[in-house]
Amino acid sequence: TKWVYTFGDGQAEGSSGLRNLLGGKGANLAEMANLGLPVPPGFTITTDVCTYYYDNGHAYPPDLEKAVEDALAYISRQTGNVFGDPAKPQLVSVRSGARASMPGMMDTVLNLGLNDETVVAVAKAAGDERFAWDSYRRFINMYGNVVLDVAHHHFEEVLEIYKERKGIELDTELSAADWQELVKQYKAIVEQETGKPFPQDPKEQLWGAIGAVFGSWMNSRAIKYRELHAIPASWGTAVNVQAMVFGNRGETSATGVAFTRNPSTGEKELYGEFLINAQGEDVVAGIRTPQDITEKARVASGSTRPSLENALPDAYAELVRIYTLLESHYRDMQDLEFTIENGKLWMLQTRNGKRTAKAALRIAVDLANEGVITQHEAVARIEPAALDQLLHPTIDPKADRKVLVTGLPASPGAACGEIVFTSEAAEEARKVGRKVILVRVETSPEDIHGMHAAEGILTTRGGMTSHAAVVARGMGKPCVSGAGSVRVDYAAGTLTSGGVTLKAGDILTVDGGTGQVIVGEVKMLEPELSGEFATLMGWADSVRRMKVRANAETPLDARTARNFGAEGIGLSRTEHMFFDAERIVAVREMILSDDEKGRRAALAKLLPMQRQDFVELFTIMQGLPVTIRLLDPPLHEFLPHSEAEIAEVAQALGVSADKLKARAHALHEFNPMLGFRGVRLAIVYPEIAEMQARAIFEAASQVAKETGETIKPEIMVPLVMTSAELDLTKARIDAVAKEVAQETGVTLDYYVGTMIELPRAALRAGDIAKTAEFFSFGTNDLTQTTLGISRDDASTFLGDYVAKGILATDPFVTIDREGVGELVALAARNGREARPGIKLGICGEHGGDPATIAFCEETGLDYVSCSPYRVPIARLAAAQAAL
Ligand code: PEP
Ligand code: MG
Repeated sequence: TKWVYTFGDGQAEGSSGLRNLLGGKGANLAEMANLGLPVPPGFTITTDVCTYYYDNGHAYPPDLEKAVEDALAYISRQTGNVFGDPAKPQLVSVRSGARASMPGMMDTVLNLGLNDETVVAVAKAAGDERFAWDSYRRFINMYGNVVLDVAHHHFEEVLEIYKERKGIELDTELSAADWQELVKQYKAIVEQETGKPFPQDPKEQLWGAIGAVFGSWMNSRAIKYRELHAIPASWGTAVNVQAMVFGNRGETSATGVAFTRNPSTGEKELYGEFLINAQGEDVVAGIRTPQDITEKARVASGSTRPSLENALPDAYAELVRIYTLLESHYRDMQDLEFTIENGKLWMLQTRNGKRTAKAALRIAVDLANEGVITQHEAVARIEPAALDQLLHPTIDPKADRKVLVTGLPASPGAACGEIVFTSEAAEEARKVGRKVILVRVETSPEDIHGMHAAEGILTTRGGMTSHAAVVARGMGKPCVSGAGSVRVDYAAGTLTSGGVTLKAGDILTVDGGTGQVIVGEVKMLEPELSGEFATLMGWADSVRRMKVRANAETPLDARTARNFGAEGIGLSRTEHMFFDAERIVAVREMILSDDEKGRRAALAKLLPMQRQDFVELFTIMQGLPVTIRLLDPPLHEFLPHSEAEIAEVAQALGVSADKLKARAHALHEFNPMLGFRGVRLAIVYPEIAEMQARAIFEAASQVAKETGETIKPEIMVPLVMTSAELDLTKARIDAVAKEVAQETGVTLDYYVGTMIELPRAALRAGDIAKTAEFFSFGTNDLTQTTLGISRDDASTFLGDYVAKGILATDPFVTIDREGVGELVALAARNGREARPGIKLGICGEHGGDPATIAFCEETGLDYVSCSPYRVPIARLAAAQAAL
């Protein structure tokens, strides 16, 4: 087995095709080397070694050591230095690199190979003592922290005390002798904390670092990140060992990160940050505020510090040449890391850059228009779920606002919530349904869970590429970073800015589009759906086969659905129309009636209201299909439950509290979801279904007359288990249709269909299709009844099932293909056989889930129906499924 792949000097043993083996970073370093770009020579230890390491009790393959020796010799041949040599020492960096990028999750060690001897040689070779000792203390700090588990703050404290004693404020004011003294103290810290001296043998250092990278694959941050992004633990990480180049060798050295297009807006411009005389992590860590790369950006930001373009024009020109080449080679926006050593540019990383949804759309549409990719590729490149970011409100520009401070617009969208200062508090609040804004000085990978739980994030330190900014953009959460004038006092639980102090629990609004932080709540605007969004959705619609409908019953929802491009209503839950203050009285009267006559009297009061509901839906949908479901929930849901409520309702209805209680008691069920609901209501109380059918037909006739549209209502019967139930109910509906036709003089076309949401219905779909003119898969109930997991009680244990890998995903979110999916496929097949051309759709929550939509395409369903806000997501997912 080949465990190690070298790269550098215009050639490499690997390439971008070997991503699984070399990890993303390693594969792209190899690719850049193959393209002849300036990449410091190095080698990648493969992900297979990681797998071997975990399969064999943390042991390496026997021939790995020899392979690493050979690869170190390869580096020597390129640089003329020798790893571990006291006279001409080669220093290296050691970094992780998984298949999928896991920002901030894994650990990096720079300047490896330094010890008490080599530091002298490095000083001599560079002609710079200060640089050598500064590098050495960085190395001890980083290695101590990452490999030897010595907390970072020990080093920080020693440094702070030292500076204080000398009356020095900035690190840059420390001399070579100062750093030399600090190296002594740092080594003492390591010895004190670990009980062993700092390792002086470079080989020991290297194997320690390699072990730490593999070890960090299983640290809790990495595990959490993989959990959130569905990355299997079995993929493993690679290790990249690379010759060091130094951005901290003075004023003609620098280090930076850049995107080939703006990752927030998608605009076509080089966008990034750099620091003169700095090393590696300084930019990302957000400790020093970085400088702009282009002159244009510097002018826009009003910074007084020079841009890269002005400070180091030759290196800048080289960066422009390389970024253009890389973007056209990878045919996508790239995220680059580079270091400039004594004026020479070196590339340390390229990868497809993370971006906001807005930027993703703009970039995909631009690249297609530039002819770099096809329209189909553009459609395929947008993650449907990411559209969610664009479909949510932004702050109304006209709204009054009390701006506390303006920070960096790190991740777009606006959010409002209570202030919390810790990720734990964010999670706690989220659990009880409260919305929070997470406020931190800066975030670290430990905060990922808190960022997830928060509506938005505010940090006081760090740039546009700080941890908070990068992670928030990936999550689609609004984020304002680097609000420097805000003082956070964690102990007191307060934040202060410009004399205003807010405490935990106070309401704050953050606007990640402008960087504004606003006291209190502000008016928000609905999203704008034109421009690139409309263009891309147009391309998506042209490849899509399945229709997309919405689940909607209110006029507001129906209109939202239409705006988002819904092509009809796939589920109108009529029970939602019954909870209105005025109607609930009539509904309760009906439930309390002792006989059919009483029920009919109460239903007569509901009829005009229901009719009006349907008139509005039919009018808004302008002839598009509208599926209306007959009453579904158990009747007790309409009755009051607490003593106080019972007393109040009894009085309003003019009945005794005892009678109300007795009725509620009689309707009590142990398993209401498996009880007296769905079509069972229509079987026992057919007058309810009749009233609803009448309301539908009268409304349809009225709208047809008024608008001249052909209205063809789809009446849907819920929770059918046997065709006899449907036969009986359909006969009632047909009879009502005849009556209404006689009364109005309008003969309507209509469909009567059913939900397939019980396993028996799926199994007997052939029989049911003899009567049903359409099926809509109610995958919420079908999942509940197939898995025997209560929809309402699943949350107590389902998380454990997913965490333990027993279920791959939550089956109420993504369809369980093997179980529930099998039933759907069977029912679709048998339904079609019994009634060729029968219309098939899905209206459970799964209808808006991209993975389920792919399944629906494979199964050949005619449409999916989902909540209005998910309609664009479903349109795109359906297009991708059809590609
Ligand atoms: C379903 O069961 O999937 C469905 C859409 O109906 P409801 O969620 O209203 O039970
Ligand atoms: Mg249901």
